Amino acid sequence: MKRAPSTEQIHHPYQAPEGYAAIPTGVYKASTILFKDCAEMRRPVARDEGYIYGLHATPTSFTLMARVATLEGGKHCLLAPSGLAAITTINFGLLRPGDEVLIPDNVYGQNRVFSEGLMEDFGVTHRVYDPLDAAALAAMLTPATKLVWVEAAGSITMEYPDLLGLVRACREKGVLVALDNTWGSGLAFNPFDLENRQGGLAVDVSMNALTKYPSGGADVLMGSIVTADHGLHKRISHAHRQLGVGVGMNDVELVLRGLPSVELRYHAQDRTTRALAEWMATRPEIAQVLHPALPGSPGHSFWAETCTAAGCLFSVVFKADYTQEQVDAFVDALQLFGIGYSWAGPMSLAVPYDMTHSRNLALPYAGGHLVRFAIGLEAEADLRADIEQALRQLAA
Ligand SMILES: *Cc1c(COP(=O)(O)O)cnc(C)c1O
Repeated sequence: MKRAPSTEQIHHPYQAPEGYAAIPTGVYKASTILFKDCAEMRRPVARDEGYIYGLHATPTSFTLMARVATLEGGKHCLLAPSGLAAITTINFGLLRPGDEVLIPDNVYGQNRVFSEGLMEDFGVTHRVYDPLDAAALAAMLTPATKLVWVEAAGSITMEYPDLLGLVRACREKGVLVALDNTWGSGLAFNPFDLENRQGGLAVDVSMNALTKYPSGGADVLMGSIVTADHGLHKRISHAHRQLGVGVGMNDVELVLRGLPSVELRYHAQDRTTRALAEWMATRPEIAQVLHPALPGSPGHSFWAETCTAAGCLFSVVFKADYTQEQVDAFVDALQLFGIGYSWAGPMSLAVPYDMTHSRNLALPYAGGHLVRFAIGLEAEADLRADIEQALRQLAA
C-alpha cells in the first residue's frame, strides 16, 4: 500500500551510526572529504553514489535529496541554494545558444527576468504563452523550442493551467517540460504521475523552492530539481557541478526538520485558506477571489482534473472604484498579516499588486488592484477578524 507523505517522510530510511538510534539524521559537514589512498582518490566516482568534496554531497544532503525525490514522486534530486538557483541551473543544463524556452504568462517573476536577461545574453530566446490555452501552446512549438516551463498554479494570479493539455502538447513534439512545483510541493498532485495511473502523463523536471512548504519555517532558502529519468538528471547535474551551486548542511538540516510536518501543514493551511477565500468572495468590496479550488476562478476545471489539495495562497481583486492608495491602506491596516515576499511559513502575509498593466486583458484581474494572501498557521477566526477590521477602515 502506498503510504501517505507524512508517514513516508517520518519513516524514510536513514541509518544512524552504530549504537546511536536517534530519529533525526546527523548533520555531516565538510569541505574536504578524505580518501583512503591515492588509488581511491583517482577512482572515478559517480556523483550520485560516492563522496568527493563537500560541495557535492555529504550523508546529510544525500538524505534530503532522497526524501525530496520521494515527496515529489521522482527518482533523482539535486539541491541548489535557492529556488531561483534551481531554476537557473535547469536552464543552463537544458538550453544552448539558438534554443528557445517558453514561459507561461503566470510564471514566477524571476524566471521571466532570467529569460529576458542572462538567457538572452547567452543566445537563448523566449516567448510567453497563455497557460490556459494548450492549443495555442501547441501551435507555438517549433524545432528550436527545447524547454517549456509550466507553473501550477500561478503564485500571484492563481490561474491553474491546462496542465494535462500543455504536457500532452509538449510530449507530442518531444519538447521537455519543467514544472515549477513550489505551489503543489508533491502534495496537491504528483508531477510524475499527473493522471494518477502508471505510465500516464508526467513532467520531465520538477523544481521546488524548498524555501516554502518543505522548510515551513521562513528561515532558510533552498531549491530542488527532481527528475525521474537518469539521462536528464545527468544533463542537469553537469551544469549543477560547473555552476558550483552547493548548499550548507545547517540549511539542509532545517529543511529535514520541516519535512515530517509538511503534509500536515499543507492541509491545515489549505483548510484555512479555502475558508478565508470563500468568505472573501461574499464581501461587497471584492470583485473576484482567485483560488483554483473555487468554481469560477480561472482554470478551476483544470485544477479539479489533477489536484486533491490547494495550498496556502489566494488573491482578491478589489472592485474598480478602489484606488491603489486605498488598497495599500487596507494592507497597512492588517495587524496579523506581515507585508513581505515568500510564503508557506508560520506567519500570514499580504502583498498588494497593481494589475492595471496586465498583458492578458481577458483575465478577470486585468485592470484591477489585487492583494495576494499567503496564509500561515494562525487560527482562521483570528485572521478573519483581522481582515474584517482592515476592511472597515477601508470604508471609513
Ligand atoms: C519563491 C518561489 C521561487 C523561488 O524560490 P527562492 O528560494 O525564493 O529563490 C520560485 N518559484 C515560485 C513559484 C516561488 O514562489
